[in-house]
Amino acid sequence: MSENWEYGFDTLQIHAGARPDPATGARQVPIYQTTAYVFRDADHAAALFNLQEVGYIYSRLTNPTVAALAERIAALETGEGAVCCSSGHAAQIMALFPLMTPGKNIVSSNRLYGGTVTQFSNTIKRFGWDATLVDTDNLGAVKGAIDEDTRALFCETIANPGGYITDLDAMAKIADEAGIPLIVDNTTATPYLCRPIEHGATLVVHSTTKYLTGNGTVMGGAVVDSGDFDWSASDKFPSLSQPEPAYHGLKFHETFEHLAYTFHSIAIGLRDLGTTMNPQAAHYTLMGIETLSLRMDRHVQNAMKVAEWLEKHPAVEEVTYAGLKSSPWFDRVEKIVPRGAGALFTVALKDGFDACVKLVDSLELFSHVANLGDARSLIIHSASTTHRQLTAEQQVAAGAAPNVVRLSIGLEDADDIIADLAQALEKAAVPGKPTSTRAPGTPTTAISSAKS
Ligand SMILES: *Cc1c(COP(=O)(O)O)cnc(C)c1O
Repeated sequence: MSENWEYGFDTLQIHAGARPDPATGARQVPIYQTTAYVFRDADHAAALFNLQEVGYIYSRLTNPTVAALAERIAALETGEGAVCCSSGHAAQIMALFPLMTPGKNIVSSNRLYGGTVTQFSNTIKRFGWDATLVDTDNLGAVKGAIDEDTRALFCETIANPGGYITDLDAMAKIADEAGIPLIVDNTTATPYLCRPIEHGATLVVHSTTKYLTGNGTVMGGAVVDSGDFDWSASDKFPSLSQPEPAYHGLKFHETFEHLAYTFHSIAIGLRDLGTTMNPQAAHYTLMGIETLSLRMDRHVQNAMKVAEWLEKHPAVEEVTYAGLKSSPWFDRVEKIVPRGAGALFTVALKDGFDACVKLVDSLELFSHVANLGDARSLIIHSASTTHRQLTAEQQVAAGAAPNVVRLSIGLEDADDIIADLAQALEKAAVPGKPTSTRAPGTPTTAISSAKS
């Protein structure tokens, strides 16, 4: 199915990677709840273990349900191949693993998911890897940070949490000139709003936990390879270009060509890191992904309405939604995310940290959780939660200052979302300050008792 690249997005999100089950004809992708697969005979087993034949050995490496999802995500991202992982963070480690050895570094945007800042600034150092975080709007700084030990450039399409949109084409050009791959975390845009490979990215990573699943049920991640990078053009990527001792001196790039990176990620990455997605998780994500385009359109519509309303509210200092004309990134929407700037943005309140805490505690329809990309509207005060481990400067750089809350706008009625924010902002207002006035156009719809 994914062989047919002519199908439109709506068709691919339902069909790519799925074929009627050869044993039963089952139309939906079955949950292959098995750890192992019977070899036809000893020769078959040997061929599989030598990577001479593609097939199923053990579910740490591959599983048919997970494989269907990987193929679907690859098709939606216009990639050559993909690997699913146990979480978005696992996907990031998996993405770097074939590229890195001790002493090597990556250059990354400083506008990142809070957990990624921590992963890059602290945890990867234990592998002997390093990361330099820079402002990706300063192209000179990005170029200047790349040295002979740099093995990748990393950024997010729509940066979490600040609603910043990265100029992916500019990043791809710099990566290309340096002979290194551009890795784009496309979690908050999804392939419906942006396909980074079309802007020159080599690898795309996802937390499938978010919009791809879309209902807050399962953790997962994915790494998609464009198949376009020449791993043998320099001596920078020996894992892909040089003989692999664990496979009798096989050279991944020479043997698997466009699929070298994907095969390496399965045969070495999943085999030895064990960051495998389980088939139940793949099933939930396959269900969710079938409606991705429909959901993203509604997420964007709702986010636009809510952001416009919030921007006019007297208690609000700033709304960072790139879909708003006031956003410094508004001009990039047309180029990078023409179908809309996503549904994740931050709101700065004039009354600071305490007002944010009160707002979060007063909301009824919104859930206060450390997640995003759910059908439900979600809120979090980043400075006291997800971005808590960061220094004050890192918090501000990541768009998570103390007076800022992050909203992930869900699929409820926009009027209900706005009414909930209206009543909570009123409660959060400091008494005596004029910020408590009801903003013009506030709907009076009663909030349902959907307190979560
Ligand atoms: C959530 C998230 C991650 C991490 O994904 P997990 O599935 O939670 O491990 C990485 N990047 C972005 C942009 C995210 O939103």
